[in-house]
Amino acid sequence: MELAARKDVPVEETWDLSLIFPDEKLMWEALEKTKADVKRFAAAYAGKLQTAETIVRCLDDREPILIAMERLWEYAGLALEADYTDNALREREAKVSDEMTRLRSEMAFVDSEILLAPDAELKAAVGLAKGCRVYIEDLIAKKAHMLAPETEKVLTALSLSLEVPYTIYNTMKLADISFEPFTANGKEYPLGYSLYEDDYELEADTAVRRAAFRAFYGTLKKYENTTAAAYNACVTQEKTIAELRGFRDVFESLLFEQKVTRDMYDRQIDVITEKLAPHMRRYARLLRKKHGLAEMTFADLKIALDPAYDPRVTIAESRTYVREALSVLGKDYRDMVDRAYDERWIDFAKNEGKSTGGFCAGVYRQNSYILLNWNERMADVFTVAHELGHAGQSMYSDGAQSYYDNEPSMYLVEAPSTMNELLLAHYLTQTKEDPRFRRWVLSSLISNTYYHNFVTHLREAWYQREVYKVVDGGGSVTADTLSGLFRKNLELFWGEDVVIPEGAELTWMRQPHYYMGLYPYTYSAGLTVATQAMLRIEKEGESAVNDWKNFLKAGGTKDPAGLAEIAGIDIRTDGPLNATIGYIGSLIDEICRLTEEIDGITV
Ligand SMILES: [Zn+2]
Repeated sequence: MELAARKDVPVEETWDLSLIFPDEKLMWEALEKTKADVKRFAAAYAGKLQTAETIVRCLDDREPILIAMERLWEYAGLALEADYTDNALREREAKVSDEMTRLRSEMAFVDSEILLAPDAELKAAVGLAKGCRVYIEDLIAKKAHMLAPETEKVLTALSLSLEVPYTIYNTMKLADISFEPFTANGKEYPLGYSLYEDDYELEADTAVRRAAFRAFYGTLKKYENTTAAAYNACVTQEKTIAELRGFRDVFESLLFEQKVTRDMYDRQIDVITEKLAPHMRRYARLLRKKHGLAEMTFADLKIALDPAYDPRVTIAESRTYVREALSVLGKDYRDMVDRAYDERWIDFAKNEGKSTGGFCAGVYRQNSYILLNWNERMADVFTVAHELGHAGQSMYSDGAQSYYDNEPSMYLVEAPSTMNELLLAHYLTQTKEDPRFRRWVLSSLISNTYYHNFVTHLREAWYQREVYKVVDGGGSVTADTLSGLFRKNLELFWGEDVVIPEGAELTWMRQPHYYMGLYPYTYSAGLTVATQAMLRIEKEGESAVNDWKNFLKAGGTKDPAGLAEIAGIDIRTDGPLNATIGYIGSLIDEICRLTEEIDGITV
């Protein structure tokens, strides 16, 4: 079972990038026009940003240019994400990236000049601004960390080089790494990144699942030193920049952008590690007993509790599920789901060279694009609901906010998406009364939604914090250090209930998030807010739905605590986090009760 080439996958399973540009020629024309616009813009404003009026007018005039650049960037970038084996797409993307970097550096004078303007003018600009108020406020906050204009220009010009570690990581993962087939039960199976993560890791047959684990990690091991070198380059670079910009440490530097305190960050990692572990270990014991395993290993954690109850789902059925489940958010939301399917916003296809995992990329005030690898499992329907949550965020915040102020802090980025997963689960439990079905839905919520956000990504967050501590202390990291930290991390959380086999410590190699700052912990932060908001919607109905929509519409106009407040949740305290862990525990308790009732198994 070889993966199909991109040209051979059914067109209705691919996204339609012609919504951005009907054809490539129009993209190149748009690029030429944008280059001319930037030239005119620079001539009009460079050296002139001393007064509040000029500053605001300059930012307003730059907005359509940034929007045009985003369209170019997405058009070229998304095509490549769907097929890294296509050299023409790779060259096109490189050319567009290159041009974007040049255009950004031609406009780099904007921020540095604004920061040199007198304080009184900056304050006045905040008062005058409509679409760019938060942007200017953020610049004022950044002022203390800005370097001389010439240095800033150099950094902007180097920005593509600063992303090289991530490029190396992705190229290794998507183009170079190749997996040999493996054998289990006397049969040969093909292996690939996406095949492992989307299929074998969830495989109910223990012999196949564990053989796939050994083969997958055995191959990763061959690339550990290159990957560690790329990652070390990334984190030491972040450390250097933190120092240059005068931050106390790399944590302060990375959290600054998120508008999150160190307390909020640490609390998420420490409280979950301590308080969620007993619940998840109980769930692991349940999986072991239900599957009759002599021992539970790290390779077994993602199996379904009741694999026989994991029905295959078609793409057409996914539309019905998602549409019905998200209807609670109103007609405008349901219409967006219809558009996503009718206008082909979603790339379902599985093909060679396609990016693994899933993501959603918004094109400002137009539509969003969703990449996933469809495997006909219910888990994929959760992925669709999740990514549509990002699309929904864009729809509301783009509609209400300027291009500058439409994005919330990274801390909350995963709230709208995980909310949709919870709504999908809630909808599914309402469709049938069968205890086995109910258990299947609840355990999907645990093994997909909460496992992904509160376990997988949180373990990454714990590990990442240790790595940054090493780097902050002036050290650097190698494959051995990274594997050692990751093993310690897994052993700490799973204790005696889960065996961590050789190879599991290489799990750090699987995640591109490490190249995106303090991203992993935000998954659980977003889901904490989503869980509490979903419980409010269950209890209070429409008024809570309205609060949620206002939260989405607010985009990035407040810090995370201020935004969560709009949704009726106070994340300045540990209340929402403890309540969410309690809720997860109650789901696991109910799954255990149902299993006792259905199978007579107790843990
Ligand atoms: Zn997401």
